Amino acid sequence: MFPSRRKAAQLPWEDGRSRLMPSGLPRKCSVFHLFVACLLLGFLSLLWLQLSCSGDVARAARGQGQETPGPSRACPPEPPREHWEEDESWGPHRLAVLVPFRERFEELLVFVPHMHRFLSKKKIQHHIYVLNQVDHFRFNRAALINAGFLESGNSTDYIAMHDVDLLPLNEELDYGFPEAGPFHVASPELHPLYHYKTYVGGILLLSKQHYQLCNGMSNRFWGWGREDDEFYRRIKGAGLQLFRPSGITTGYKTFHHLHDPAWRKRDQKRIAAQKQEQFKVDREGGLSTVKYRVDSRTALSVGGAPCTVLNILLDCDKAATPWCTFS
Ligand code: UDP
Ligand code: MN
Repeated sequence: MFPSRRKAAQLPWEDGRSRLMPSGLPRKCSVFHLFVACLLLGFLSLLWLQLSCSGDVARAARGQGQETPGPSRACPPEPPREHWEEDESWGPHRLAVLVPFRERFEELLVFVPHMHRFLSKKKIQHHIYVLNQVDHFRFNRAALINAGFLESGNSTDYIAMHDVDLLPLNEELDYGFPEAGPFHVASPELHPLYHYKTYVGGILLLSKQHYQLCNGMSNRFWGWGREDDEFYRRIKGAGLQLFRPSGITTGYKTFHHLHDPAWRKRDQKRIAAQKQEQFKVDREGGLSTVKYRVDSRTALSVGGAPCTVLNILLDCDKAATPWCTFS
């Protein structure tokens, strides 16, 4: 029926000659070349995959130049991509909820579904990143947020640094894009526990651009506290104005702080120079100097709500911050 087509599709071995010896057969040659080209392409893609998994290409492609301590290793399989709403009424902005985390499993089971429901109801496009510190150093909330920022990719344009144990209850709270400057959701007038004027902990929203302008948070704070106070000074140093909620009438009942201090003890030890150093501004370090490795990336659904768990190994420069361990 289609003689010309059949002719064009004739394969090199159809005339009984060797499949591997197409020389001198111009038409058959083109099929052979196609075959070799496919093989070559396949080989190159495998090579690319291998390089990406060692981290070098992926990092170079993102232009982050992040240093990775320890030997490179195979990437775990990519989790499903974040889900974004097509409906334009959700607005153009996308929020990365960065949750510093270690051994708060019960809180996480409540937090993820609560936040997903809360933000969806407010039509805030979001994805939750659980930044699980799996090294054996003391907890470092700020360095985890720096790592989470770098790992949250380019599809989000603002972040919430969000404690896992602080649940917003009032739907009037604004979680929208903080165009004008950092927006402190858990303001001292509303936080159930912290009421000093310069407090910026708990829940703080920033555009990625503003976070970069501050060079992120200092990596020098191991153990509980002070990293947020140092970040307040970075905000001011970068010339940014801090905003807080207005018109919220629920006072200290605006949030549920899921925290029993007898059960979830705060690591308030101050080791050697840490006593003095905790009050200093870190002028050099931050987002540009954080050292970590992502051990694994797992897409999870908690009570039907999606999140990504990043197992993060922080690195500590023991000469600079010997207080990152207890001994
Ligand atoms: N956090 C954690 N594991 C810890 C210490 C802290 O996951 O061992 C995280 C968690 O998100 C927590 C936040 O860091 O909500 C702040 O710590 P914490 O609740 O102890 O401080 P608070 O604001 O209650 O003084
Ligand atoms: Mn707490």
